[in-house]
Amino acid sequence: MLNEETIAAFRASLRGELIEVYNAMIDRRPRLIARCADVADVMTAVKFGREQKLLVAIRGGGHNGPGLGVCDDGLVIDLSRMNYVRVDPKKKTVVAGGGALWRDVDHATHAFGLAVPSGIISTTGVGGLTLGGGIGYLTRRYGLTIDNLLAVEMVLADGRFVTASAKENADLFWAVRGGGGNFGVVTSFLFKGQPVHTDYGGPMLWPMEDAAEILRWYRSFIAKAPDDVNGFFAFHTVPPGPPFPEHLYHKKMCGIVWCYTGPHKKAEKVFQPIRKFKAPALDLVGPIPHPALQSLFDGLYPPGLQWYWKADFVRTLPDEAIAQHVKYAAKLPTMHATMHLYPINGAASRVKNGATPWGYRDATWAEVIVGVDPDPANKEKISTWAKEYWSALHPYSAGGAYVNFMMEEGEDRIRATYGKNYDRLAKIKKRYDPANLFRVNQNIKPK
Ligand SMILES: Cc1cc2nc3c(=O)[nH]c(=O)nc-3n(C[C@H](O)[C@H](O)[C@H](O)COP(=O)(O)OP(=O)(O)OC[C@H]3O[C@@H](n4cnc5c(N)ncnc54)[C@H](O)[C@@H]3O)c2cc1C
Repeated sequence: MLNEETIAAFRASLRGELIEVYNAMIDRRPRLIARCADVADVMTAVKFGREQKLLVAIRGGGHNGPGLGVCDDGLVIDLSRMNYVRVDPKKKTVVAGGGALWRDVDHATHAFGLAVPSGIISTTGVGGLTLGGGIGYLTRRYGLTIDNLLAVEMVLADGRFVTASAKENADLFWAVRGGGGNFGVVTSFLFKGQPVHTDYGGPMLWPMEDAAEILRWYRSFIAKAPDDVNGFFAFHTVPPGPPFPEHLYHKKMCGIVWCYTGPHKKAEKVFQPIRKFKAPALDLVGPIPHPALQSLFDGLYPPGLQWYWKADFVRTLPDEAIAQHVKYAAKLPTMHATMHLYPINGAASRVKNGATPWGYRDATWAEVIVGVDPDPANKEKISTWAKEYWSALHPYSAGGAYVNFMMEEGEDRIRATYGKNYDRLAKIKKRYDPANLFRVNQNIKPK
């Protein structure tokens, strides 16, 4: 059977590289894969795809849930070789190639005491995560990834190479900050680096029986928490291995994964009321280098797992919604299945809804329900659980979802996600990609 071990052995036996689509549920066979080395290659590949009337997919880090970095029959423009990162310590800016992974960025920036706000798994691509918005450990302190984006360089559908920033092609710059890969191939990103070196963070776990009480406490805590305290809530099953104690192995639990970026001498004091509210069954929170926190869960979620997720934005968490959460958490179908509530209040919420296409700045959380398992035989089981859980919670949601936490769910869902910003995106799409060459994505139709 094709599983993690067989793939790892195959990779180890090669002198060259093995390319994998992260979600093993995706089974697509492109006709051609162009492994671009530079911008010139991207321009040539776009021209070839357009002239040959091929379906064109753009692959950044390959982590997209519905596998929108690959396509059947057509041409994949694979950017993974364009993974350079350059830090300017004086200007505190960071340039990352269109195919870089977040671990490439974290490695390069940490040496200068800087970090770019990103996600929570370091193997995720800079490309897809940024173009969809970017939620992670630094969201409450420094905003979404797009709030730290200063400019992009990109190859458009007609083959032109352009820069988009607040000063140049401002409409395009607006669109790429949430509108995904709809507008062209981004060959490089210019970010603002933030002064982050060592966090005070990690997970705290509590027994599932306390879940309703913890969620009620968490909803009021996070609403008023200072920006330098980030904590995402999770339901999950404790993996059987270090650093977890044996008595917790395989237990379904609830937890909060913290990331405090304030002064370390204040950390114990900041966490004192959190620990006092209810002593955690496991408390792994302490000083941790930022790249270590960023990659803490990489081993738990390697590529090659079956993956099905559903999402929503959430403004409030009434007691009835909490009751539904507790009900479905008790039914977590596999060890890897999980539910996360990522806070997006704080700095991210102080950007206006229309300032970028990311239209839910007034929501408190991005919720994602994730069915995951290594065994393809459990595909139905994990997706049914995720769909049922989502349906029970959707009535309490704000309507749309974070575009990077969606499967292919149809145009209505994409419209709900962009809300009032959809029509403006459609107009910009028409200007830059009127024939919809770039349509292997959460597609915005040119209008
Ligand atoms: C394990 C895991 C953890 C995650 N954690 C987080 C998280 O903490 N926070 C968060 O915000 N998201 C998170 N995500 C979601 C992630 O942001 C999306 O899956 C995203 O699409 C991944 O981007 P990618 O470049 O790796 O994927 P790909 O599959 O390579 O690309 C995704 C989409 O973006 C387009 N694209 C990628 N690069 C470019 C480019 N350079 N130019 C133009 N278009 C491009 C592709 O065409 C495709 O449509 C996570 C995903 C996984 C699987």
